[in-house]
Amino acid sequence: MTLEIKRLNLASLQGPDGGTWPVHGFVVTHPGGAVLVDTGVGGPQDVLDDWRVVNRSVADALAELDMSPADIGLVINTHLHFDHCGQNAVFKHAPFYVQRAELSRMQRESRELYDWFGFMDARFELLDGDTEVLPGLEVITTPGHTEGHQCVVVREDGAFDLLIGDAAYTPRQYAEPGRDNLPPGQASDVDAWRESVRKIRSLRPEHVHFCHHTAIVHS
Ligand SMILES: [Zn+2]
Repeated sequence: MTLEIKRLNLASLQGPDGGTWPVHGFVVTHPGGAVLVDTGVGGPQDVLDDWRVVNRSVADALAELDMSPADIGLVINTHLHFDHCGQNAVFKHAPFYVQRAELSRMQRESRELYDWFGFMDARFELLDGDTEVLPGLEVITTPGHTEGHQCVVVREDGAFDLLIGDAAYTPRQYAEPGRDNLPPGQASDVDAWRESVRKIRSLRPEHVHFCHHTAIVHS
């Protein structure tokens, strides 16, 4: 099965270092349809104002690939922060693949956002650990940024690409997980976060694609 990764430009926002950061989602296409990894920014206006979000609709971003929301058969959320699941409601026809631990974290820690998104009605496929979603497409748990964070593995001919989510904001955090002075928000649990980055580095992904950085790391 041939899988192809296409990057979406979903928004920009003010990153923890004060600079302007992109927000990327990804479409993974395969002969049977298309999978969307993260849906972009949404949430109460005060949250968007705080982060100085310049937002786009995910439908407009998909249109640049000659696609529409109806073409998406399945959504994977790396985690449930407002800039990764903000437009989930556009895909009510699709199941959302999320770690069970991440949904309960959001219910517990971000009740306001949880209610704002109306997640009660969403069709969740709750995962408990590493899971093959489709042939060649897997999620691996990478706790640390949030408790239930997951990365997406896209396999091709023995090698694989990694959609890293927020397991590392930038190539620098990916390259040097041992380094101090992490950007605010990078790790809610620093030990777990370091362990997760070391784990994914040891798997030697051929390319690493970031949500908040445009560089693609080759190894
Ligand atoms: Zn995040």
